[in-house]
Amino acid sequence: MKTVPEYFGSLVFDDRVMKANLSAEVYQSLKKTIDEGAQLDITVANAVASAMKDWAVAHGATHYTHWFQPLTGITAEKHDSFISPSPDGGVIMDFSGKELIKGEPDASSFPSGGLRATFEARGYTAWDPTSYAFIKGKTLCIPTAFCSYGGEALDKKTPLLRSMEALNRQALRILRLFGNDSVKCVRTSVGPEQEYFLISKEMYDQRPDLRFTGRTLFGAKSPKGQEMDDHYFGVIKPRVAAYMEELNEELWKLGILAKTEHNEVAPAQHELAPIYSTTNIATDHNQLTMEIMQKVAAKHGLVCLLHEKPFAGVNGSGKHNNWSMATDTGVNLLSPGETPYENAQFLLFLCAVIKAVDDYQDLLRLSVATAGNDHRLGANEAPPAVVSIFLGDELNAVLEAIETEQPYNGTEKTQMKLGVDVLPKFNRDTTDRNRTSPFAFTGNKFEFRMLGSSNSIACANIMLNSAVAESLKIYADRLEKAEDFETALHEMIRKTIKDHRRIIFNGNGYDEEWIEEATQKRGLLNYRTTPDCMPHLLDKKNVDMLTAHGVYTKAELKSRCDIMLDNYCKTVVIEANTMVDMAKTQIAPAVEAYVLEVAKTAAAKKALNANLPCSYESGLVTRLSTLTDAIAVKADELKEAVISLRTDEDIIAQANAIRDTILTKMSELRVVCDEAETLTAKEYWPYPTYGDLLFSVG
Ligand code: ADP
Ligand code: MG
Repeated sequence: MKTVPEYFGSLVFDDRVMKANLSAEVYQSLKKTIDEGAQLDITVANAVASAMKDWAVAHGATHYTHWFQPLTGITAEKHDSFISPSPDGGVIMDFSGKELIKGEPDASSFPSGGLRATFEARGYTAWDPTSYAFIKGKTLCIPTAFCSYGGEALDKKTPLLRSMEALNRQALRILRLFGNDSVKCVRTSVGPEQEYFLISKEMYDQRPDLRFTGRTLFGAKSPKGQEMDDHYFGVIKPRVAAYMEELNEELWKLGILAKTEHNEVAPAQHELAPIYSTTNIATDHNQLTMEIMQKVAAKHGLVCLLHEKPFAGVNGSGKHNNWSMATDTGVNLLSPGETPYENAQFLLFLCAVIKAVDDYQDLLRLSVATAGNDHRLGANEAPPAVVSIFLGDELNAVLEAIETEQPYNGTEKTQMKLGVDVLPKFNRDTTDRNRTSPFAFTGNKFEFRMLGSSNSIACANIMLNSAVAESLKIYADRLEKAEDFETALHEMIRKTIKDHRRIIFNGNGYDEEWIEEATQKRGLLNYRTTPDCMPHLLDKKNVDMLTAHGVYTKAELKSRCDIMLDNYCKTVVIEANTMVDMAKTQIAPAVEAYVLEVAKTAAAKKALNANLPCSYESGLVTRLSTLTDAIAVKADELKEAVISLRTDEDIIAQANAIRDTILTKMSELRVVCDEAETLTAKEYWPYPTYGDLLFSVG
């Protein structure tokens, strides 16, 4: 058997393979493109394509695809085989530099939000050489960006790369001001922790709600849920362990640094965390991870649920986006340094993040907004919809000392300019005792915890990178003109702390009182639902910032807002239709059959002896009959509400109507069905229950 180092990355055309299979000249030239974004000339592209093809074919590949991330949030691929006819009637395997660099999938069925008229439906895909090509099944996958002919981004990778570039540009200006001329580039890194549920495939197949919508739309509470806290970090059961083992192997072959795995809080819930990598690679890898999680599950007779809230009453699943900025020389800019100068630089980058999160709370909130995540944010298991930052006591005290120009009393040597010249070492234990914060400083990185489990992490990182780039730009503009750098720096750090103190909150983010304080006293935003926040993507301040940094064009922003709201509407309508269908064709008939059985029992008893007590049966028949009537009424109302939705209205109005009427009617229908479930004999109930589903995997 091969050891992990022997097979790690075996399906990836990585640096090792490039070195071994490309001439020194071609390799150097490609490396320059990867590291510095230099243009790739066609002879080099031809050589790379040919080596890539030979390597892929040797690994069993027959096809190639430009692998991209359209606005649906998942990945897309169209396969072409390598075959090319040869004059003797046979074929050769062929792949040119042109095919490597650019593809032209028919894009007419991908959402474009009006960016592309159907008569010019072809979009094009462009190779992203910074993310390695890999083999999936029999296909060589080439990570690509996806654009319209007009050059507008139709995907998530393009704006992500642009946002990384924007941050790089501004961060370099700041580093130059600190006298650092050797750094060539600043990149953001991300380690996304991924939560998921595993349930039995056999049970999943019996639930139309899970199959059509990814979540249970009905289901009475299980007698046992997560209240004992006995699942979190508990012993991993054999079937789950076998799944995780194969998942790790598959991910490792793809060069994905799967590192940590454990049981999560809810029964049947688990987490996988990779070692962090550069943001666009982490994003590609997270998309792949989600796909492979589902594939491997199928092999084990399981289904991996990535929905944000598959079960009511137990925790949903999120994703923790651990984020930092680092130089190509290996310095983490969010890590406090050894010297006063390094510490001042650290404080400036820290302040840039604080300012960014406060100024663009709305963008961060909407970057994680989906119909699914709306059920999770603010449900006492995940952070609320209010964005705030946790810094921990120590760092908080440092900032307070600077703001009030007091010496920081954790240090002996204090010096006035920055209030502190020796910063304490922040070890993780003291910075992250708080798991309820949406945005927590955890020693040398920030952890953004509002992402839903099925979200592409691209959106959150686009907004985070852009907002921080904007803070850094404002700082650089001012500092470059300053007469006395140190004084200006000191003033700017102080001002940021003063102006943005409201976003810092070290208490319990799940507390009702906090929401009150945040919104009433501090004026923080609380956009509870997707239709509440999404339209703010087009607020002038947001459009100005994102276009100024070249991350999006105005048209691209409009298209994204429309697509996200459209997606919200469709998701909820599919759920509503599924509920109506289940209630009418399965739930009501099942309850009726059981009522008949109970009524027959009562009649039989009476026939036997008119004095036999039958109040149990008659009470049950009465309650269940009331419930079936209510089920019929509520299902009709819901159906009616869906039919009367005005599709001619603008998308914001549609989304608002859906949130206000459809979701309300859905919960009303659910309540009566769930009560009926608790009164109906199990053998009559058409679906596996919450107890069955949550405890189905041994
Ligand atoms: P936890 O949050 O569960 O305590 P860790 O702090 O060990 O776990 O790491 C969580 C994630 O953060 C991992 O994916 C890890 O690779 C990532 N991470 C660690 N350091 C950084 C960093 N500097 N930048 C981005 N991600 C990081
Ligand atoms: Mg974490």
